[in-house]
Amino acid sequence: DSAAVAPSIHVLDPRLANQISAGEVVERPAAVAKELMENAIDAAARRIEVEVEQGGARLIKVRDDGTGIAEGDMARALSRHATSKIETLDDLEGVSSLGFRGEALASISAVSRLSLTSNALDDPRDGFRVVAEGRSMEARVTPAPHPRGTSVEVRDLFFNTPARRKFLRTEKTEFAHLEEAFRRQALSRYDVAWTLRHNRKTVHQLPPGDSAAARERRIASLLGKTFIEHARHIERQVGDLRLSGWVGLPTHSRAQADQQYFFVNGRVVRDRLVAHAVRQAYRDVLYGGRHPVFVLYLDVDPDVVDVNVHPTKHEVRFRDGRKVHDFLFSSLHHCLADTRPDAVAEPSA
Ligand code: ADP
Ligand code: MG
Repeated sequence: DSAAVAPSIHVLDPRLANQISAGEVVERPAAVAKELMENAIDAAARRIEVEVEQGGARLIKVRDDGTGIAEGDMARALSRHATSKIETLDDLEGVSSLGFRGEALASISAVSRLSLTSNALDDPRDGFRVVAEGRSMEARVTPAPHPRGTSVEVRDLFFNTPARRKFLRTEKTEFAHLEEAFRRQALSRYDVAWTLRHNRKTVHQLPPGDSAAARERRIASLLGKTFIEHARHIERQVGDLRLSGWVGLPTHSRAQADQQYFFVNGRVVRDRLVAHAVRQAYRDVLYGGRHPVFVLYLDVDPDVVDVNVHPTKHEVRFRDGRKVHDFLFSSLHHCLADTRPDAVAEPSA
């Protein structure tokens, strides 16, 4: 007897393959909510309503008044690698939509009972629905009246993947994550009206408004009034880099880095280079492991930033990272100049 028999290789059943890759995008209810809210934003919605039961484990429903999906595209919306947002590599390089991988709905429907209802026409008597239960898709698209826009209902997340369901935390913890995902989206689009309901109670109701005052009201209602009272508005442009937002003063620091929002072209990111620039700028005004609070928006040309680094798109890669870092550092450093102990000696550069 020689070596053991080589095991034969087979292609995974598509349903199983979907469940495996679903893990990349769908780690918990908050991740589902994020994907659905991003789809609503990409569909140019003006009003987005999020309804959640039991922290999202039982139900996550996102309803929007966006473009809707045409009848003929309804089933395709749930297939893997099916997207309306890019077609070519060129499109990918200059992508400005939040989605483009065409994976979210396929992944979510592989691990939940999903129903997609949409109307791409103006008559509210129109509309269609397609349902999928853990990927056993009922390919049938049935008529279902819906006002112009889309509703996605995700029930019983991980009902068919017990190993993943086991990792769900308490209702309170899951909802806290989901609310955080909602906060990020609501802070990214002030022109959209947002609602969040949990177990039939309204948690947030945010009217639209793009003025500085309206933005401050929204930030106050999402992050607390004291932040806005202890923050400085910043607005700065150098070449094709534009930074705006609210920079928390050292008098309003926190024990945890839990209120730090940084958006690149409307997409919330956690980036080491950005974190470093911010830390440096606050270095001599914050002590003892305290963390600043900020809500900052960096806008750059879409083709100098790569968003296709990670499936959740929380990471980005800048073509000229050094330039971005220096711009952020100098902008924040200057904004905080008069809060420094040696403020008198500070040059006004
Ligand atoms: P992606 O967002 O990466 O394109 P998704 O799986 O999230 O992939 O969605 C697949 C497609 O379904 C989208 O490209 C879009 O055409 C359509 N779609 C999904 N959600 C909505 C929505 N809320 N409104 C309109 N179209 C939607
Ligand atoms: Mg999407």
